[in-house]
Amino acid sequence: MNIKNYLFLILFLSVFFSCKIFKKNNTSKSNAVAINLDTVETVNKTVEQLKYYGSNTRISDILHTKLEVSFDFEKQYLFGNATIKARAYFYPTSTLTLDARGMEIKQVSLLQNEIMKTEGIGVIDTAATISKKPLKYTYTNDIITIKLDKEYKNTETYSVFIEYIAKPNELKNKGGSDAITDDKGLYFINPLGKEKNKPQQIWTQGETQSNSVWFPTIDSPNERMTQEIYITVNKKFTTLSNGELVYSSDNEDNTRTDYWKMDLPHAPYLAMMAIGEFSIVKDKWRDKEVNYYVEKEYEPYAKNIFGNTPEMLEYFSNKLGVPYVWNKYSQVVVRDYVSGAMENTSATLHGQYLQRTDRELLDENNEAVISHELFHQWFGDLVTCESWSNLPLNESFATYGEYLWEEYKYGIDAADFHHAESRNGYFSETTRKIEKLIRFNYKDKEEMFDAHSYNKGGQVLHMLRKYVGEEAFFASLKLYLESNKYNSVEIHNLRLAFEMVTGEDLNWFFNQWFLSAGHPELLIKKEYDSNNNKQRVIITQIQNSEPFQIFKLPMAIDIYANGAKVRHKIVLTKASETFEFDAIIQPDLVNVDAEKVLLCFKLEEKSKKELVFQFKNAPLYLDRYEALTRLSIEDKDSLSTETIISAMDDKFWNIRVQAISQLKNRVLGYEKKIKEKLINLISTDPKSDVRSSAIIYLANFYTDDDLQQVYKNALNDKAYSVLRAALGAISKTNPKESLRITKEYENAKSRDVLTLVAEVYANYGSDENNDFFINAADKFTDYTKISFVGFYGLFLKNVLKEETVTAGVELLKSIIEDPQTNKWGAYYAKNSIKEVELMYDERLSKTIAKLKDLKEQKSANEEIKKLEDLIDRQKLLKQKIAETYNGLKDPRQPK
Ligand SMILES: [Zn+2]
Repeated sequence: MNIKNYLFLILFLSVFFSCKIFKKNNTSKSNAVAINLDTVETVNKTVEQLKYYGSNTRISDILHTKLEVSFDFEKQYLFGNATIKARAYFYPTSTLTLDARGMEIKQVSLLQNEIMKTEGIGVIDTAATISKKPLKYTYTNDIITIKLDKEYKNTETYSVFIEYIAKPNELKNKGGSDAITDDKGLYFINPLGKEKNKPQQIWTQGETQSNSVWFPTIDSPNERMTQEIYITVNKKFTTLSNGELVYSSDNEDNTRTDYWKMDLPHAPYLAMMAIGEFSIVKDKWRDKEVNYYVEKEYEPYAKNIFGNTPEMLEYFSNKLGVPYVWNKYSQVVVRDYVSGAMENTSATLHGQYLQRTDRELLDENNEAVISHELFHQWFGDLVTCESWSNLPLNESFATYGEYLWEEYKYGIDAADFHHAESRNGYFSETTRKIEKLIRFNYKDKEEMFDAHSYNKGGQVLHMLRKYVGEEAFFASLKLYLESNKYNSVEIHNLRLAFEMVTGEDLNWFFNQWFLSAGHPELLIKKEYDSNNNKQRVIITQIQNSEPFQIFKLPMAIDIYANGAKVRHKIVLTKASETFEFDAIIQPDLVNVDAEKVLLCFKLEEKSKKELVFQFKNAPLYLDRYEALTRLSIEDKDSLSTETIISAMDDKFWNIRVQAISQLKNRVLGYEKKIKEKLINLISTDPKSDVRSSAIIYLANFYTDDDLQQVYKNALNDKAYSVLRAALGAISKTNPKESLRITKEYENAKSRDVLTLVAEVYANYGSDENNDFFINAADKFTDYTKISFVGFYGLFLKNVLKEETVTAGVELLKSIIEDPQTNKWGAYYAKNSIKEVELMYDERLSKTIAKLKDLKEQKSANEEIKKLEDLIDRQKLLKQKIAETYNGLKDPRQPK
């Protein structure tokens, strides 16, 4: 699963709410929307709360599940017939226990004389040959306990038939987490067809244990089964499931039955269905189908969005030495998805945010999500963590898959940049919690889906790769995949594969990084001894040794002297250790952790000269990034200033962006040079982030008339982020012009552009622009609703007419009450109403003060009367808004 959407949300919100360029002078109203998307709570743990979670004991083993399903959209029911072929796992048993959450069970029987028909030709009609013998069962606490007709040994198989109705909306035991905001397993989208701009769909979400809402099963990651699903739907719908679409057959009642068959075993949580009016865009990898299911509107862009998938399949297959095993790979985009994306076997499901036009893709291509889910097809689907305690075996790898793809496709700098962002995600979470990667004690399994299992795990795998070396790393992964395929694993399976390949005991590495918590903090000091021609490096581990350990840290130290670089490999094993190297002259730079792989904090003094040298000579992204961000422009030192300016020509885009942000202000003596460089970047840089950063910097610090033309030209830029920056720049000196241009985009289809329109109106608009918000509200769906309600709140604070405010508050209220609005959308809409109420408080006190003045000045009665009327109206309106706010019933407060 991918929780990237949260990261994306944070980025998105910070871009749209905190960017300087749209702030009016002397006002911080853009800050009025306080963004705090920390979705992880600090848990005060007590021994009672933290139950031990091992893997589920395997009493029975499901071999195969056959499902026949049809739906009632109105009631949001699934009618199902399940045939479950099972056997005792090892010890004989006369009971079969199945998870079945919130179902109505119609019958449970044993199939006699049954031969599972899996050839897949013709609709199965087994009534003639198979008899059903009713079985006794109990159904309590979402568990069916079936009494079989006798005790079965593990050499005998039997088949149980269950007729049931799944009622996902009537579930009693609801769960969910921050990564997965709901756990009802089966979702009907726009079931009654009443919601404008929203297609009707059905889709499922199995992880962690939600598939047992729509079929009875042993809902545990250490279970494995093959499956067949017969899906009967209205003919207008397309279906997708795991495995192969064997056939479709039309029925007489305007429905069609699609028969999906999955021959290779996988865990029940990876089973899926998606149903909707999708366009299927076909692609191919080797002899396998690679299909993209999108809404019709996005059909022309499907290859722009997903088109690198076959290349990813080829790369991952070769790099791992284990070709992609499943029969096809499909990706589907659905509405109102509850997470980022889900790696269902051979059929990944994505949230709506993945649907972007070719122009929107210029700013964000989401390939990290695409590569993450694809890598899961090996790590997660082919080899599955045996319990949620071992979740990093799925998620750390998927996160590292993002790195591997970036490295291969876009180069080491792009990969290291992505990796560094991910590392920051982990560090940011450590301010709230520090956990072991493999955790057997937790309050709720959903807690496992955090920046430890994902981000830290990815960092740890990278360290392991650097430690054992490229060939050993991938040979170990190949061995691990091949010896555990179609099976479940725990962390030791991974260690044993690495030990088998490298011949080295790796308990220390796995104990330190997977089974213990924390990370090192290093104080690094350097001394040059000119008497003995020695360079010393003293490294001290300053992390709290309680509860954290002293780490064993292999690393490289590069010493640059005399125009040459010498690499030394060291292993730090003590709390403090001194390393000594020959050095005939004092080195230009001693680069500790030269491969920039250690997951640690470093405290290390470096002179300006060393930093400049590092920027120019050390090879990695993080070498340059660290040097650049530690150099400062304020000191007027031409060496560091010139280095920062030269960084605007760096080969990697984020270094160019950082260089611009490092300028911070106008740079005396360099104004002309910088301006020319930036103008050049705006028209030539291939990366939209660089172009928009250049515009934002110029608009903030330069007022030259000739720049207006530069901004106007930038309005033609294909990337919307650049258009946004250009509009912001024009707004600074000519808000009217910016409003005029914005109006042209009011009917755009792109949600990025509509958000941009909302932003300009929020900052510079007036009552007349309210129509835009009223008409466009429905077009903002999923995460874009959050920015919509935020900007609308800002807008309403600036308008003057009472009817605009009244209509606005009503719209916000309806958004909150709409069950389709996600919890963040509802939360910020509520905030916006409060903001408007507070604004009226302010206006009211101002009017009251003004009235007092007028009375003191003995002004004309007529004027006084006018103000008194205004006060009455303002009071009334404020009261109405307060009543609306207080009357809001919204249980969906974000955690
Ligand atoms: Zn994942």
